[in-house]
Amino acid sequence: MCGIAGTSDTILAAPVLYHLLHALQHRGQESAGIFVWDGTSVQKQKGYGLVSEVFSDADLKRFTGTVGIGHVRYPTTGGSKPENIQPFHFLFRGHSLSVVHNGNLVNTEALRDEYAGHGVTFSSTSDTEVIGTVLAGELVKGKSLEDAVLFALQKLSGSYSVICMLDGQLFGFRDPLGIKPFCMGKTKTGGYILASESAALDAVGAELLRDVRPGEFVLVGTDGIVSSQLVKAESPAHCIFEYIYFARPDSILDGVPVYDVRRKTGEILARESFADAEMVSPVPDSGTASAVGFAKQSGIPFREALIKNRYTGRTFILPSQEKRELGVRMKLNPIRSHVRNRSVILVDDSIVRGTTAKRILSLVRDFGAEEIHLRIASPPVIAPCYLGTDFPTREELISSAKTVDEVRDTIGASTLAHVSLSGLVEASGLPKEYLCLGCLTGVYPLEIAGEICEKKKMCVYRR
Ligand code: 5GP
Ligand code: MG
Repeated sequence: MCGIAGTSDTILAAPVLYHLLHALQHRGQESAGIFVWDGTSVQKQKGYGLVSEVFSDADLKRFTGTVGIGHVRYPTTGGSKPENIQPFHFLFRGHSLSVVHNGNLVNTEALRDEYAGHGVTFSSTSDTEVIGTVLAGELVKGKSLEDAVLFALQKLSGSYSVICMLDGQLFGFRDPLGIKPFCMGKTKTGGYILASESAALDAVGAELLRDVRPGEFVLVGTDGIVSSQLVKAESPAHCIFEYIYFARPDSILDGVPVYDVRRKTGEILARESFADAEMVSPVPDSGTASAVGFAKQSGIPFREALIKNRYTGRTFILPSQEKRELGVRMKLNPIRSHVRNRSVILVDDSIVRGTTAKRILSLVRDFGAEEIHLRIASPPVIAPCYLGTDFPTREELISSAKTVDEVRDTIGASTLAHVSLSGLVEASGLPKEYLCLGCLTGVYPLEIAGEICEKKKMCVYRR
């Protein structure tokens, strides 16, 4: 998780970064940071909270440069420590390197040990610091930027979409499997933007040029983007969970509109697991597009059962289980007249821990629903993600140990069905081998200690 953004333009960077990060707020709400190059040094600000809480108007006015990077953080590995807030900054031989990263390395420990063995000290537990250390370690030897990035691509294992600023030079690169999203756009003022999702480009009126390709290095100058394909993998492994839940529905990731995937998944789900009910309702907002598809395909009227309070964050963002449970009630309230004495199909995007579903079902039942048929627009999440999504252990995943029928009984649904894996893949429009399906299958696209890596995706490195 996490959202990243960078801009190099003819206009001031800070307000642009603010809007980019605000559009990416769903990717992380713990902390935010903006670094801007003022021509001689880096102006920095980062802190805990939402983008709107971290940066006031006065704060933004302090930044004077036209090149900058920013980050919104969702803590995965590393934990919630102030020193883990991004961007990271490195100084070497009079040069300044700033780094933001979305993803998760799976060889962080090994790399830390290796560099610590060479006398490097780390100031955080973040894998992003490792990425910057690897890059800086090559640049300090006098290597070209491109060669340093090539070295990093060979060295780093895991998922990483990375944006950096070397002095006033903006560049980015994406892991060879393109696990986490990453795109680039052109602004009306002649500049360029790198960002996690295309919806961020929309937010600043920039045009989506294309996705940064897996294994690609892009260097942004005022007269254009210079690209080098430094690594080529057999096929990519785009994160399926971005399409299921994480990305904004109004984003286009790797050429695929997220809303369409969710709507089609709902249609396929209706074909696979119809229920005879009076209405189809989404669990807002994450189930909305799939519920639209389900209603269309089934011919059952779409009618909202739950209203979401706009002023609460995502329940997952709350760190403890207790707070998460409270979060559901803060967030959703049923429309009594819609659900009373009715049989309802509720559509949500996923079941992870089962907290949301359980709470919502008891809520809707308390408001008088007679039958509640829960339909889930993803297969059961059965395995942890090591590549950037926060469901770390099998114990926490309700579908890991329980069958679908057991989950149905635990959460108290009349019936429960998930879309099939093949149905979801069909909805994505991407070939199965182009996706990382680790959380749904327990089979990962790269080697992770103790887990199954079915097919090692061969990478060919330039030089
Ligand atoms: P559960 O309550 O089963 O643990 O989580 C499922 C609910 O949380 C679904 O409604 C889904 O929209 C949302 N959700 C699923 N995965 C994630 C995640 O990785 N992060 C966040 N913030 N929410 C999630
Ligand atoms: Mg949800």
